[in-house]
Amino acid sequence: MKRQTAAIRTQIPRTGEMEHSTPMFLTSSFCFDNAEDMRAAFADETDDNIYSRFSNPNVNEFVDKMVALEGTESGYATASGMSAVFASFMAFLKQGDHLISCNSIFGSTHTLLTKYLPKYGIEVTYVSAGNPDEWEAAIQKNTKMIYLETPTNPGLDIIDLEWVGNLSKKHNLILNVDNCFATPVCQRPAEYGADLIVHSATKWIDGQGRVLGGVICGKENLINDIYLFCRSSGPALSPFNAWVLSKSLETLDVRMERHAKNAHHIAKELEKHAAINWLRYPFLPSHPQYAIAQKQMVNGGAIVCFDLKGGLEAGKSFLNNLKMLSLTANLGDTRSIASHPASTTHAKLTEAERLAVNITPGLIRISVGLEHVDDILEDILQAL
Ligand SMILES: *Cc1c(COP(=O)(O)O)cnc(C)c1O
Repeated sequence: MKRQTAAIRTQIPRTGEMEHSTPMFLTSSFCFDNAEDMRAAFADETDDNIYSRFSNPNVNEFVDKMVALEGTESGYATASGMSAVFASFMAFLKQGDHLISCNSIFGSTHTLLTKYLPKYGIEVTYVSAGNPDEWEAAIQKNTKMIYLETPTNPGLDIIDLEWVGNLSKKHNLILNVDNCFATPVCQRPAEYGADLIVHSATKWIDGQGRVLGGVICGKENLINDIYLFCRSSGPALSPFNAWVLSKSLETLDVRMERHAKNAHHIAKELEKHAAINWLRYPFLPSHPQYAIAQKQMVNGGAIVCFDLKGGLEAGKSFLNNLKMLSLTANLGDTRSIASHPASTTHAKLTEAERLAVNITPGLIRISVGLEHVDDILEDILQAL
């Protein structure tokens, strides 16, 4: 099966009702016919579900689809993107280990790396997304993992996955990629040697702003370690959310195609606007890593960012002028969303920290939705 088909046709076995669409299994635990079956399940001799903290049919179906889309051996789903990210650290890192992370990463991941991992004796070095030379120089004897996002948020830097895949292999490191911004429809890090791929399913995977979820895909032995950590620590994805997310995957491919088409059009139309200093979109030739984006991405994704000439005040008044675009902390929705990182998501950073990851005072990030592209563009133009 092609990936698009697998995302639709992967389905757990039908019940006696012969339903067409997968039902919801809202059950916390599962029964056994006899003591021997129960013993065998607990001894991991069968794939039987035991308890929904460990596995559940709806969660299994969602994971099987994600594994098919990412092209990995195995996967495990969690309650949110952050629990997926956290599990991908905790299952492998121990006291005395060192992790290298790209400096431009999701805010809560930054908090885990700087506030919590050091508490457990895990050292972290940040390297610049735009400067590959720093990465190899940062590798130490005790380095265990490289962590990155590409495209980065909100600056849309593109990191060369082939290059970093080779670097990780050469130094025998676990390469852990947050693939949330591209989705597996647009970019498959496993093809370049990524060992772990983490997602916030809350974003385009749901794509309709309804539920939280997370998933980690990767090699069988690594996912088994993540499973054992999660089975004991409990960040289980709810069966209801898994059912929603599995349904969402049926339309991910067509949704991402339209998201990217709308975003690309808007980026082209706005690039030369008089109120804008610079604009970034991975599939515009003006993007500094355009060639890398062309190599590893199917399309440019759904995020467009630009810097307003008027700085902080212009950023705030742009948001106030919008009539249709939503002002909300989420992204990856059918509805287009605008945000001003300097006054919201990244307000706690110092100005220097913000500038290091390209967050200028006038930076605006648009998560381009599925409304008619003319309506999205008209709202942005009138707000500018
Ligand atoms: C939102 C997001 C996360 C965290 O996911 P939640 O589902 O909100 O916990 C992690 N990484 C990236 C890139 C994100 O955008």
